[in-house]
Amino acid sequence: MNARITVRIVPEKCQGHARCHALAPELFELDEFGNARATSRTLVPRELEDKAFTAQSNCPEGAIVIEDSAET
Ligand code: SF4
Repeated sequence: MNARITVRIVPEKCQGHARCHALAPELFELDEFGNARATSRTLVPRELEDKAFTAQSNCPEGAIVIEDSAET
């Protein structure tokens, strides 16, 4: 079945706690400064949707945005 949500990080808000990467390494990469990257909207496979929402709720900066994949 197709993915239905996308996830991205707002770079201006991200402070590099890397909690998102710890919780969902499949969705968030760390750069050389320890900041996470999902800056180009990443389509989330259904089996990773729970992880995406967990990462979002654990980001202390509110930097993770989850959107419907139909939204552009
Ligand atoms: S948890 Fe939030 S602030 Fe920390 S690296 Fe991830 S997106 Fe950035």
